[in-house]
Amino acid sequence: MALAAPGAAAWQRRLGAAAVAVLGGPGLAGAPAPAPTLDAAEALLRARSLAMPVAGVARTALHDTFTDARSAGRRHDAIDIAAPRGTPVYAVDDGTVVKLFRSIPGGLTIYQFDPSRGFSYYYAHLDRYAEGLREGAAVHRCELIGYVGTTGNAPPEAPHLHFAVAALGVDKLWWEGSALNPYPALRSAPAGDKPCP
Ligand SMILES: [Zn+2]
Repeated sequence: MALAAPGAAAWQRRLGAAAVAVLGGPGLAGAPAPAPTLDAAEALLRARSLAMPVAGVARTALHDTFTDARSAGRRHDAIDIAAPRGTPVYAVDDGTVVKLFRSIPGGLTIYQFDPSRGFSYYYAHLDRYAEGLREGAAVHRCELIGYVGTTGNAPPEAPHLHFAVAALGVDKLWWEGSALNPYPALRSAPAGDKPCP
């Protein structure tokens, strides 16, 4: 179902021309381009068959906290996956490590793009990165990229991975995108699903 609000045109602007291309391409010359919807982007994300990013956590143990309120009226726009400090964090998809960044809220973070550069995957509150991880490196689904921690504003007694997905805009900027709920994509097991080693 198409979103009634903010409306297809608004989503088209927010998702950007590249997302339009990913979502089926512009219409025939002279015809209006088909409007992408949040649902369509989430369906594409589900089709990526994302791996579970935290070792030892079952898909059935996930909680959907995407729309939870956070400080200053913000929406969470991510899910939190609790695990002991030092638990391995795996890449959910193939792609590229675009940015290793330390921020006040996120602590040690990783921004990864998928191979089509349609999505950005964001991993935050890491205790540390996997040895040798560097910006620009190709990564593969289930590759070790870091370890669960509490860096940034995570409570010290509640280590977890804060995991977010964004549909990238036309400029492919790691700090810009439209938040997509990763819960449905992570919760639905792809065919032949096996946990990362
Ligand atoms: Zn979070």
